[in-house]
Amino acid sequence: MPRPIRAVIHQHNLEHNLAVIRQKVGQAKVWSVMKADGYGHGIKRIWRGLKDSDGFAVLDLHEAILLRNEGWKGPILLLEGFFQADDLVVIDQYQLTTSVHSRWQLAAIEQALLNKPISVYIKLNSGMNRLGFSMNEYADIVSQLSQMENVADVTLMSHFANSDMVEGTQAPLAKIQQFAQLSLPTCIANSGAVLWHKNTHYDWVRAGIVLYGASPSGKWGDIAEYDLKAAMTLQSEIIAVHDIEAGQSIGYGSKFTSEKPMRIATVACGYADGYPRHAPTGTPVWCQGQRCALLGTVSMDMLTIDISDCPEATIGSKVELWGENLPVDDVAQAAGTIGYELLCALARRVPIDFQ
Ligand SMILES: *Cc1c(COP(=O)(O)O)cnc(C)c1O
Repeated sequence: MPRPIRAVIHQHNLEHNLAVIRQKVGQAKVWSVMKADGYGHGIKRIWRGLKDSDGFAVLDLHEAILLRNEGWKGPILLLEGFFQADDLVVIDQYQLTTSVHSRWQLAAIEQALLNKPISVYIKLNSGMNRLGFSMNEYADIVSQLSQMENVADVTLMSHFANSDMVEGTQAPLAKIQQFAQLSLPTCIANSGAVLWHKNTHYDWVRAGIVLYGASPSGKWGDIAEYDLKAAMTLQSEIIAVHDIEAGQSIGYGSKFTSEKPMRIATVACGYADGYPRHAPTGTPVWCQGQRCALLGTVSMDMLTIDISDCPEATIGSKVELWGENLPVDDVAQAAGTIGYELLCALARRVPIDFQ
């Protein structure tokens, strides 16, 4: 028998979440963001659950090629564009839409021998200072690219650093709107902007984390009202149970010591499965219909939970580390991170069931 740990991917929840997002954005088209192998869910497994998207946005050429080989004929956007000029051969062959954020990419496009002109997203740095052209040079870049024979059409693209905050899009949006006279199709909204800033939706949105049922802010409470559902459940089982006396310590470093007699359970899940090692005592773990507390340090292959108040829990009981019953955001928050990181970090050794 294999270890009892597995991740379950809920295809119907992906479909459902996409429908929720479509409702939110009205006429705007939806790029479903699939970078990091579909936020850890596996592009190959999940893309069909999101096939009602208008396009898929990815990071790497191999992700785009995989989607084409799987039979996706619609648009594919390279979020960070190409990393070297040679990549344009592949962009041409697979008909990918590329973003452009640096000047060297203009020259590369101009000089490439393409079979067909390509669609280009021109990235504007609206304040995040990560990728994109500055306010001063943007109009010039647009004009240069628009005149190239290798370019079929151009779209204004920008990214928000603070779309999970009430006024987080105000200043960048004011900058972006200065280019309104260019009348370009516009694509600026990520998940936070999709949910909380309707005035950023424009022509296309780029929805990532919300499709997977986690919160752009990292706090489940912020999205609880939107009826988004977990696309991934990470589950395992109890493999040992112990009754311990007061004064007993648990796990490496003896970081937790009992103050009273307790019933504890060992669960087949550890940091080598992608569970955060820095999750502290008290991090919620779902077992037998209730939240139990993690105790002590997470090991490579196991962790320990308190089942003192969970009398039905026994060897073989199902445990959910995150998913449909326990939002990944709640686990992430306890561990000082965000759901994105936990989902993306699911380890290769965890078998995946597809439902
Ligand atoms: C990852 C990414 C997104 C999606 O972000 P979410 O917060 O998951 O919606 C959108 N745009 C760009 C450029 C990205 O890199």
